[in-house]
Amino acid sequence: MSEPGGRFRWCPECGTRYDAGTVACPGCRVVLVADPPVAGGAPVVIHKVPDAAAGALLAGLLEHHGLRVHLRSATLPGYGNVRRDWGTTAWGELLVSPDDADEAREVISEYLSALERGGQVRDADVEGGSGAL
Ligand SMILES: [Zn+2]
Repeated sequence: MSEPGGRFRWCPECGTRYDAGTVACPGCRVVLVADPPVAGGAPVVIHKVPDAAAGALLAGLLEHHGLRVHLRSATLPGYGNVRRDWGTTAWGELLVSPDDADEAREVISEYLSALERGGQVRDADVEGGSGAL
């Protein structure tokens, strides 16, 4: 994941700049990103995810909508199994720039409600069944 000219990496949480060899911000324990922080302000948490699969899925969904999203996990690569003190059972969280927060929340909300509707289809979908035991 080395980009030409990408000598530096930034902490998406506090905005500190590090050399490219640095994996994570020691202060925030956040994985560094290749892009400098957006001018609009620090990224905001829009959703917490229970596991890596859900995080990757939702991050991909947001990127599909043209939103830049950071997936921050409680377990940092390169730091063993250091875990943040979340106070929750969430595996990690999704962050976007403040400008994108509303749209990102809407995308996730629509996706989750669609999932719920899909989950209820199974019972309602049984029509014309002949098996009355
Ligand atoms: Zn930091």
